[in-house]
Order: sequence, then C-alpha cells, then structure tokens
Amino acid sequence: MIDLSKYTKELSELFSSSENILIICHINPDGDSIGAQLALYHYFKAKGKNVSLLSPNNIQEFLRWMDGIDELNIFIKDRKKSKVLIDRADLIVMLDFNQSNRLGEAEDYVIASKAKKVIIDHHLDPKNFADLIISDPSKCSTSELVHELVCDINGKNFMNRSYAEALYVGIITDTGNFEHGSYSSRTFRIVADLLDSGILKEKIINLIYNNFSSDRIRLQGFALNRRMVVLPELKTAYIYLSKDDLKEYNHVKGDTEGFVNMPLSIKGINFSALFIEKENFIKLSFRSKGQFPSNEFASLYFSGGGHMNASGGEYTDTLGNTIVYFLKVLKENVWRFEHQV
Ligand code: 5GP
Ligand code: MN
Repeated sequence: MIDLSKYTKELSELFSSSENILIICHINPDGDSIGAQLALYHYFKAKGKNVSLLSPNNIQEFLRWMDGIDELNIFIKDRKKSKVLIDRADLIVMLDFNQSNRLGEAEDYVIASKAKKVIIDHHLDPKNFADLIISDPSKCSTSELVHELVCDINGKNFMNRSYAEALYVGIITDTGNFEHGSYSSRTFRIVADLLDSGILKEKIINLIYNNFSSDRIRLQGFALNRRMVVLPELKTAYIYLSKDDLKEYNHVKGDTEGFVNMPLSIKGINFSALFIEKENFIKLSFRSKGQFPSNEFASLYFSGGGHMNASGGEYTDTLGNTIVYFLKVLKENVWRFEHQV
C-alpha cells in the first residue's frame, strides 16, 4: 500500500488551479474505469468545476443506466468534439490504465496535449506518460483509490448518491462482486459508507449482472459445452470462439465478458484463457489463481499485460495457430505452476 497523503497537496493544487478538466477511461471501458470516471465527475460537479468525460470507444450496454453516462463523449464516434475537449483541457485525468496505448485512437492527441496529466490506477508498473502518476496495486479497484484521494483532498468523507453508485459499480465489477481476493477490510469500510448513502444495491446488482440477452446466455452455454478444452495436467482450461460462433449467437460487444473466469471454478484448474477471433487478430484474456503471473505471461507472449490474476493480450495469426502457439509457450512455463499457493 502506498502513502496517498504525499500526493494530496499536488493533486489538490492541480484540481483547484484547473478550469477545464477532462477525465478519460481506457479503451473498452469496464465497470471500474467508468465507475471511477463518473465518481470523479460527480465530485467535480459538486465542487462547481467545469468537467468533461471521454472514452476512446463505445461503452457496454450494462453501464448505460449510470447517472452522468450521457455526458460521456466517444472519441471514435465524435472525433471533432473529442479533439476540442482534449485541446481545451488544462487538466487531463486518466483512470484505470498504465499504458498510453489504452487510449486507443485518442492516444496521439492526448499525449500531444499541453494539459497537465494525471494517472490514477491500480495496475502494476505504470509507464510514464503523465506529470503525476498515482498507482496503488494494493487497491481492489481504481474506484476505491479515487475515493480515498477524493476524501483526502476534501478533508473529510465525500459522498452523494450518484457518486456512491458509480463507486459501487467500480468496486463490485473489479472484485467480481467480492469474489476475487483483491479487496481488503478497507474496501468494506468504503462499501459500508456507500450503502449508508442510500444506494439501492439490489437494483445495481440486477442492472449489472442480471441484464443479459437470451442470445448471450446461449452463447455462454455453447462456449462451455463445445468450445472449452480442459488440460488437467497443465492445470489449465481454455475457451475459444470464432467469428462464426459469435455471429451465430448474434454477439454484441460485452457478451463474452466473464467467460474467462468460468473454467477457474473447475477443481484443479488454476489458469484459464479465452480466445476471441477478431477481424485481424485474436484477443486473449487470462485469469489465474494464486501465484501464477498471468500478466507476465501476457506481456512475454501476447503483447499484453494486466494484473497477476487477470490480464490480456493479442496475437496476430489465425485462431488455430494462436492456440498452438499458446499451448507451446504454456508448456514452456509449466514449472511456474509448481509455485501455486
Ligand atoms: P479482460 O480480460 O477483462 O479484458 O482484462 C483483464 C485485465 O487485463 C484488465 O485489467 C486489463 O488491464 C488487462 N488487459 C486486457 N487486455 C490487455 C491488453 O491487450 N494489453 C494490456 N496491457 N493489458 C490488457
Ligand atoms: Mn480496474
């Protein structure tokens, strides 16, 4: 855990001296990136700040109900306005990512901007593309980190309903609704404050988790039944889905979210991979249990990264060749499984 108080003064000065603040989430934003972004938005609004929101690309359906989401500008949909927002900003706050390529097609414009730049993130080893980097991998989510910084700057606990809903979404989605081991007692103290603010937790859980199309549920069944390969000797299971598979189930963005976690509930399986065939490459997601560094695996072999137990990357080849390559490099790394806790 890092000592956040050493950032409070600089961050507070940056916040108060900035007229136009732009908050940016990462490409293919998840609940944490959007949750942290909207929470910070509601904080700035409560403080009377001029604040804008930008996402490199479209958001998923399950986040569309959130208060403030209509303010989100999508770079690839409205480049002209997005570029104006980037140019006009005197402060850019980037949330939940540690590499500038997670800005997608907005990357060059954000990097070239004269605005002061701040990164607030909980991934390991952030690259240096900002004036101030606040990175705390001990936090379960960027949302948790944002809340702690906001409270430090505010001098006391800050809370309102929209802010609390946004943080709650960030925390539950990044912890898998308190399933992954990344949360702490501190997380629950924050969640207690969020619940006290009057958020409707059942409503939020239903909007986030019980909002699938029937096609999505059928795709999940198909993926587990027909496209999952279990390799007990490697303590590994993987799922692969081709473009045709996705088409058959009327796939929309976000439908395969969570699939990669499912093989980990098989006894003895500590490493799981999901292969999704895209137009010109294969997108990979990895999940692991214990000490297997899935992020190292992703970065060494699949130009990716992420957390120890949740990471991703890509590979430019056919689906079949990618799986062959995956199995080859996995076997080379099998000794690492000996160090499982
Ligand atoms: P997911 O599997 O949910 O898409 O991603 C899990 C984690 O892996 C995310 O927290 C994200 O930071 C990281 N990740 C996923 N894909 C990539 C990638 O292509 N590059 C990098 N650096 N990280 C990724
Ligand atoms: Mn996160």
